[in-house]
Amino acid sequence: MDCIFCKITSGELPATFVAESEHAVAFNDINPAQPVHVLIVPRVHYTDVAELAVANAEVLADLIQLGVSVAELKSTGSFRLQFNTGAEAGQTVFHAHGHITSRTPRV
Ligand code: AMP
Ligand code: ZN
Repeated sequence: MDCIFCKITSGELPATFVAESEHAVAFNDINPAQPVHVLIVPRVHYTDVAELAVANAEVLADLIQLGVSVAELKSTGSFRLQFNTGAEAGQTVFHAHGHITSRTPRV
């Protein structure tokens, strides 16, 4: 399977990692839409968050906890957590991931 996020989570491709947990990693989005834009990505491949939610609630909870930690680390506490799910919703990488975005970075 040719999945760019599998290659990043395995270390085959580089990324700017900002945090990690047992089941997930967090790295900066290569094309940030806001001053804080971090992706939270499970280490195991699931196509999208809907598939992940059905398959493994423990991984999903760990992923969200990692996202909240990243948001607290990188922002003043006002942030969004977004999961684009399906091509028509704007999903372009079909390995489940959440976007942590914030307009108010912690300085
Ligand atoms: P989505 O549109 O929800 O599937 O989000 C995919 C995100 O992955 C986009 O915001 C891209 O900018 C980001 N992205 C794609 N390739 C990379 C990469 N190699 N490193 C970091 N972020 C990436
Ligand atoms: Zn993958």
